[in-house]
Amino acid sequence: TEAGQTADALPMDSQAVAPERDLMSKFDSLIAERQALLDSGVTDPFSIVMDQVKSPTVAVIKGKETILLGTYNYMGMTFDPDVIQAGKDALEQFGSGTNGSRMLNGTFHDHMEVEQALRDFYGMSGAIVFSTGYMANLGMISTLAGKGEYVILDADSHASIYDGCKQGVADIVRFRHNDVNDLDKRLGRLPADAGKLVVLEGVYSMLGDIAPLKEMVAVAKKHGCMVLVDEAHSMGFFGPNGRGVYEDQGLEGQVDFVVGTFSKSVGTVGGFCVSNHPKFEAIRLACRPYIFTASLPPSVVATAATSIRKLMHAHNKRRHLWENARRLHGGLTEMGFRLGTETPDSAIVAVMLDDQEQAAAMWQALLNGGLYVNMARPPATPAGTFLLRCSLCAEHSSEQVDTVLGMFRAAGEAVGVIR
Ligand code: PMP
Repeated sequence: TEAGQTADALPMDSQAVAPERDLMSKFDSLIAERQALLDSGVTDPFSIVMDQVKSPTVAVIKGKETILLGTYNYMGMTFDPDVIQAGKDALEQFGSGTNGSRMLNGTFHDHMEVEQALRDFYGMSGAIVFSTGYMANLGMISTLAGKGEYVILDADSHASIYDGCKQGVADIVRFRHNDVNDLDKRLGRLPADAGKLVVLEGVYSMLGDIAPLKEMVAVAKKHGCMVLVDEAHSMGFFGPNGRGVYEDQGLEGQVDFVVGTFSKSVGTVGGFCVSNHPKFEAIRLACRPYIFTASLPPSVVATAATSIRKLMHAHNKRRHLWENARRLHGGLTEMGFRLGTETPDSAIVAVMLDDQEQAAAMWQALLNGGLYVNMARPPATPAGTFLLRCSLCAEHSSEQVDTVLGMFRAAGEAVGVIR
């Protein structure tokens, strides 16, 4: 029979069969580390489930009403009635998904609308929407910098920036975090006539510190580099029009590409790049993470377009978000917590802790008290630090921030972080 013939064809001598190498065994140390954390009695900080979400600032976690202080919902747009209505309308009119790439059948009316909203928001001539912010960085960096060219990035850059470098073929140069002199020195060593892209972030998301963009962009331009700034954590509340740290520092017209995301202030999912470069549209023809994936669902781009247009006029929200940041930063400093920045520089306030054990105990005590923050640890954090990241929302009331401060005091005293 045919089956018999197949069996005969298999090597019968067991010596000829190579032993299987278990590709999963490389994760053993990660599995052990996670188990050690769970054995210490804490809830797994990396598998929290929001059973119900009541508002931008309150959810139900494990049956308990919990204040959310660890989301990127800076402007609180997720429950905006106009945003929700736009999503419902698009869902009904255009269906649940696009079933294709932007380049083929995946561009619907609202993909054009959201790109126009971005051009209007940033006052720029070009806007390209990607399926996530991660893919915007992956795509822009790997496509802009080619063979024989250079990407120069801050050592504390987001994973999506590092991955954009890996995806591409350019040479990579890192400089010390926010160090203008180090950037200058390293650029000085590169061939003057090579193409160079300097990649910066407006706000660095682990410590909540901001980049000295003015000085850095000046150095980049001195060395003939193009500049891309990731403004993921500043959109909506930095600068007179909420365009980001680059606007706040007076750099309109000096930054070549701005990357951003819909997953933070905009309140949905998606990523984008805006630019005034006359050839910017060519990115759509060459950028693999733009071409080889399905486009965002119509409901998502419709909510994003509505949200972005509302953010253009969200002056009161912006003011209150900054008030919240100052209130939380000031209160925690007064209690004796060690924070990631000396002043409230952004909507992120990072509470620095000694080690994983202390961070986990503090995180758990806060959760038990009804507060959710992000636990962050290496490799996501700089210099091997353990921290609890608090991100504020324009929809947190002043009373909520005071309640949060009370929770930090109780947890900090119980764990022994403060006296
Ligand atoms: N850039 C930065 C600086 C980020 O912090 C993030 C996400 N945390 C991204 C890009 C990716 O954004 P998205 O969630 O849209 O993939």
